[in-house]
Amino acid sequence: MSNTNSGKDLQKRLTKEFKSAWDQLKEGEMETVFSFGEAYKNFMDNGKTERECVTEIIAKAKAKGYISFEEALKKGKLTAGEKIYAENKGKAVALFVMGKEKLEEGMKIVGAHLDAPRLDLKACPVYEDGGLALLKTHYYGGIKKYQWVAIPLAIHGVMIKANGDKVNVVIGEDESDPVFYITDLLPHLASDQMAKKMGEGITGEGLNILIGNIPYEDQEVSERVKLNVLNLLSQKYGVTEEDFTVAELEIVPAGKARDVGIDRSMIAAHGHDDRVCSFAALEAVLEVDEPNKTVVGLFLDKEEVGSMGNTGMESMFFQHCVAELLSLQGSNSYISLHRAFKNTKVLSGDVTAGFDPNYPDVLDKRNASFIGKGVTITKYTGVRGKAGSNDANAEFLAEVRNIFNENEVVWQIGELGKVDQGGGGTIAYILANYGAEVVDCGTPMLSMHAPLELISKVDLYMTYKAYKAFYL
Ligand code: MN
Ligand code: MN
Repeated sequence: MSNTNSGKDLQKRLTKEFKSAWDQLKEGEMETVFSFGEAYKNFMDNGKTERECVTEIIAKAKAKGYISFEEALKKGKLTAGEKIYAENKGKAVALFVMGKEKLEEGMKIVGAHLDAPRLDLKACPVYEDGGLALLKTHYYGGIKKYQWVAIPLAIHGVMIKANGDKVNVVIGEDESDPVFYITDLLPHLASDQMAKKMGEGITGEGLNILIGNIPYEDQEVSERVKLNVLNLLSQKYGVTEEDFTVAELEIVPAGKARDVGIDRSMIAAHGHDDRVCSFAALEAVLEVDEPNKTVVGLFLDKEEVGSMGNTGMESMFFQHCVAELLSLQGSNSYISLHRAFKNTKVLSGDVTAGFDPNYPDVLDKRNASFIGKGVTITKYTGVRGKAGSNDANAEFLAEVRNIFNENEVVWQIGELGKVDQGGGGTIAYILANYGAEVVDCGTPMLSMHAPLELISKVDLYMTYKAYKAFYL
């Protein structure tokens, strides 16, 4: 053996290089990557809010034989392999596949969130100014406000009438629908605006949605454009202005998920964060039958605003579900609940920032994720000295690594940003507080929190493969 060769061998044995996942696909996997991408785009087109995603998830679960939580409680006993969905107020849902082992022995959970940064309508949104009808908004989650102007927008959500009827509103997605729009200033008159910092050029109170221009025909009334719009909404949905005060209406970019690149390798869509991990977890959990440990797909709301509220991870919802299921197995004590969580292992499925050649300075290239190099493990998130981070245990990380290697999951490991550059958080710490082993593990992406975000199809597929391997 020559010196050069032995050096190469040594390098192969001792060094670690994260390579393109596209190069590491097995025979026939390229087709699967692309067909998986099609299924994902379909999921994204039908689920542009957390509520719509929950509806989709439950429909898919039911088709696979899942029964509702209420039905399971009514049956009064649990059998191994039983599949149960627990819906939480239409905005979050947990899918359980009961294991052969008792629940006290722990679960395998993949948790992801369904909410995404967007604009919400205020309680009194409709007004008229300058011969135009507009809607006031309050943004949800971390957005860059300037990205939301001068693009086609759609309205999704629910309105509840005085008689209690709930109306599902979707306007702007069908090709024949109108869309909505937030104006920006023409460059000719924007010298003051352009001199401002980017974060100040467009204000939160300036994100007002255009919805009409034609005045109501009766010239005797005031605010005729507003009245005309209310009249049209009343004809279409039977709602009044007061119904807006009790509505949940979300503004999202109009249109479908699209392939990006001449090679169709990537997807641009609204809400990849975190529906990409949600979809990967969903597809993985739906393939699980009769596992040893109980398997859970956990799909949450409110992550983007701190996991608060009764549909976020901080709520007692999931603990209560587990307590109820334990009770069906004859364990009613707090100790059983504690044991169930202490023995649980979790992949916190959330996206992470990939290296962006347009902005190379915000990441440490040696510890960054790259689009196209597979699912990303993130040991710790947090800001300024890992503050607020879950910081996964080495023993659990090592276990996850072996699962991935044994199942030919192409993975990488990275940090969200350079030290002291900024950072982020996920739901990881919450389940860790219960004693579970948790690590963040999800899809790398570009343009996170932009109206349209970007992922690579191969990373989506590897995320699914990773979750499936973890469950098995
Ligand atoms: Mn996220
Ligand atoms: Mn986010």
